[in-house]
Amino acid sequence: MASVDGATLMARSLKAQGVDYMFGIVGFPVPGIAAAAQKEGISYIGMRNEQSASYAAQAASYLTGRTQACLVVSGPGVIHAFAGLANARENCWPMILIGGASPTYQNGMGAFQEERQTELAAPYCKYAQEIDRAERIPYYVEQAIRTSLNGRPGPVYLNFPDDVIRAEAEEENVVQAAPFAPPTRPLADPSNVERALDALESAENPLVIVGKGMAWARAEDEVRDFIERTQLPFLASPMGKGVMSDDHPLSVGAARSTALKEADVVFLMGARLNWIMHFGLPPRFKPGVRIVQLDIEQEEIGRNVPAEVALVGDGKAVMGQLNQALSNRQWFYPAETAWRGTLKEKAQANAEAVRPMIEDESSPMNYYRAYRDIVEWLPDDAIIIGEGANTMDIGRTQMPNRAPRHRLDAGTYGTMGIGLGFAVAAAVACPDQPVVSVQGDSAFGFSGMEMETMIRYGLPVKLIVLNNGGIGGGVGPLKEGQTVPPGVLTYGARYEGMLEALGGKGFYVEDPADLRAALDEAMAFDGPALVNVPLHPKAGRKPQQFGWLTT
Ligand code: ADP
Ligand code: MG
Repeated sequence: MASVDGATLMARSLKAQGVDYMFGIVGFPVPGIAAAAQKEGISYIGMRNEQSASYAAQAASYLTGRTQACLVVSGPGVIHAFAGLANARENCWPMILIGGASPTYQNGMGAFQEERQTELAAPYCKYAQEIDRAERIPYYVEQAIRTSLNGRPGPVYLNFPDDVIRAEAEEENVVQAAPFAPPTRPLADPSNVERALDALESAENPLVIVGKGMAWARAEDEVRDFIERTQLPFLASPMGKGVMSDDHPLSVGAARSTALKEADVVFLMGARLNWIMHFGLPPRFKPGVRIVQLDIEQEEIGRNVPAEVALVGDGKAVMGQLNQALSNRQWFYPAETAWRGTLKEKAQANAEAVRPMIEDESSPMNYYRAYRDIVEWLPDDAIIIGEGANTMDIGRTQMPNRAPRHRLDAGTYGTMGIGLGFAVAAAVACPDQPVVSVQGDSAFGFSGMEMETMIRYGLPVKLIVLNNGGIGGGVGPLKEGQTVPPGVLTYGARYEGMLEALGGKGFYVEDPADLRAALDEAMAFDGPALVNVPLHPKAGRKPQQFGWLTT
């Protein structure tokens, strides 16, 4: 009778559930799983830190629309990967973490890297289970992946002890699991579809907010139809950018604060009224703002602000319902309204406010001047990764997204350190698209060693470090004997030299006049390249009406 080991069963089961990529770090007790994955046709990408590996797995999941895997060793490996589970939970992204574990027959004995992994993973996950017997591996994998993808997506965890990985199961005793099935797309209550349109029709200052739930739902065609038919002004959340092109004439993203503050009816599509949206509360929103809320998660409806109309269902399916219902109505939001005028004026004023910074040719550069060349250089289909405080926030306003799922950033959890893991994932999962990562020097440092991963796998990621020598801002060169302030990093650190040493291409650009040529050369280079741009240590954002994290 033929037998099969636990590692092979895991690889086969993952493949059967649609997993194409596994990011991880091998060591006791998991090398056999990585080897089996390669044998079964899963691409295995060995990373340098488990945090990055778990960030990569979730970014690959988001980009491919299927759950992708992360494989880590017992104890500290699993603990490091929890950072990714928490980030995936907050972003509502799927991923599966497979944690090697000490053998069950040593439970409680103080085994090598023994840890209560399943219990610790549970709060970060939709599903966390220990695999008890090799025969049941297909069952657990199917259950985990189905859970991660259906409803609100999220991370799942499987604990895989050494003795179960190595166990031999008789083929005929192996549990058979259903093959991968894409999630169904639940529809909203039809009467609420009509009520949603009534609410929008009654608005004086309507606003659509497009969130990353719509990007995940691949609802871009339906959202575009809806917005173009209703002519409603819209703005996007940070990673909702691109579901509708930022260049679309109905975009009011350039007047974000005013649009949020003065809208009377908000159609919230696959976005949450959390800190990113200032909880939907005054003074950032109008008191008594009416909310039409579309979300796949019923519990999300009414969080922080009661919803006047709830559309509980899948973003793509529900937008299809709305478009269908629209065909019985003549209504669209008129071209000439006071609201449109207000938003247009504000957008123009905002553009004027940053113009002097965009045109400032002094060296060291400011953010806006650096972004001017980056934006002109960025290929249209680039996947853009943004990370760092000012680097990310200013980049969000300056770098347009024209297609969905082309922007990855610190997200709902505000995680610093996602950058290079996300970039590796984007380059692996979308090999035909340019991948550009723009990071602050602090953010870059969290995962900089993944440059070696990029070299090893030949991933032609273009890294740009906007380097102000500090967390947030710096102070420039320190004086002799000066105590190092907590937020200060080495001013002018030559990060590009690190990539050069590993075999990539590096550029250090002090004069704004040289920036474009360096970017072009970086793009032309057939491999990873890093453009290190020292910024003025005090460069900042344009003055904001509300301070950061003001509710
Ligand atoms: P953003 O950061 O873009 O505002 P959030 O992550 O806060 O987005 O919110 C995304 C929302 O989208 C979550 O509340 C999630 O439940 C919802 N969502 C996830 N998948 C779908 C889907 N297929 N259809 C509709 N909503 C979805
Ligand atoms: Mg910095």
